[in-house]
Amino acid sequence: MAVSADNQITWDIFDALPDPALALDGNREIIFANKAALGLLGEDIEGGDIAMALRQPLALSIANAALDGQNPEPGEIEISRGTPQIFEVRAAPILGNRIVKALITFKDNTRIKQADDIRSTFVANVSHELRSPLASLIGFIETLQGAAKDDPEARKKFLSVMENEASRMSRLIDDLLSLSSVEVDEHVQPREAVSLIPLLRDVVTVIQARAVNKEIKIISDFPQGLPDIPGDVDQLTQVFQNLLENAMKYGRSKSEIRIKIGINDHSSENSASEVIVSIADRGDGIPAKDLSRLTERFYRVDKARSRELGGTGLGLAIVKHIVGRHRGRLEIGSEEGLGSTFTVFLPTFEA
Ligand code: ADP
Repeated sequence: MAVSADNQITWDIFDALPDPALALDGNREIIFANKAALGLLGEDIEGGDIAMALRQPLALSIANAALDGQNPEPGEIEISRGTPQIFEVRAAPILGNRIVKALITFKDNTRIKQADDIRSTFVANVSHELRSPLASLIGFIETLQGAAKDDPEARKKFLSVMENEASRMSRLIDDLLSLSSVEVDEHVQPREAVSLIPLLRDVVTVIQARAVNKEIKIISDFPQGLPDIPGDVDQLTQVFQNLLENAMKYGRSKSEIRIKIGINDHSSENSASEVIVSIADRGDGIPAKDLSRLTERFYRVDKARSRELGGTGLGLAIVKHIVGRHRGRLEIGSEEGLGSTFTVFLPTFEA
């Protein structure tokens, strides 16, 4: 590399930059590539023409413009090293230096791009989820104003369907609000001392009351002397409510739901122990290929069935976010035809 010892010190500073950077001379030759650039574009790019390192025409035209003394607009390019990454490429002319004529920098925008994609898919999904109950409400309103105007039987039937559709929309809005409020403070770990057994007993009482028509029995095994955990009572209530509601929804009539609580004692290792709550149902279970995707928003194994049972497709996404906020984890196990077990691990206060 044609740089003096003093210049070498300057280049070393560029190695500390997390973003890739390239210095070009007037012949488009890469006379310096910092460590991040070598990692991105190849270890042997120094000394070669920029076109050997960067194949994207947009990146090359940006570099050429800077070499011509212009200040080109940045551009977005995709660079694939196994997985594709999106970079914003900027180039600035360097005036008044004998060797370096342009500096090219790259900013990794992959995560921003992914977040944008997730956001727009989410908005499309929400619109779609709201559109179908709304379309059916509008249809029934029109029928009630016209053909079924003087038919009390039809009116009664349609109003009951309308009530279901409106409740589904209302549940969807409630779940969307819960999800966004959990996301807002997801990085702040709750510190209130929560005693899980009374909390679970309350949840069981509420859900048990709804279990009557399916004749599902909730069997719980609560040990003595369970430690409190740092948590948010309302959010933890929601976790176990959602999991128990699912066990009820997807469990077979006249079957059982078993709730177990245990503790993983790590106190001898000087780290936080974990309280483990598992909820096992006897239902049709979940195919193995779907297990890893269940906590995605609006992911359902059987869309029609979930809708019919009044599901929003957001329950497990909410559970995952709340458990994450509590620095815990959720494990899902299932055997098709037998049932599913949802296990929540929640750390206790530090030992
Ligand atoms: P939903 O409102 O559709 O129940 P969830 O986010 O709570 O949404 O669950 C997502 C999907 O996971 C459900 O649609 C269903 O396919 C599957 N699922 C959740 N819990 C169970 C369970 N206990 N047994 C079988 N399938 C389940």
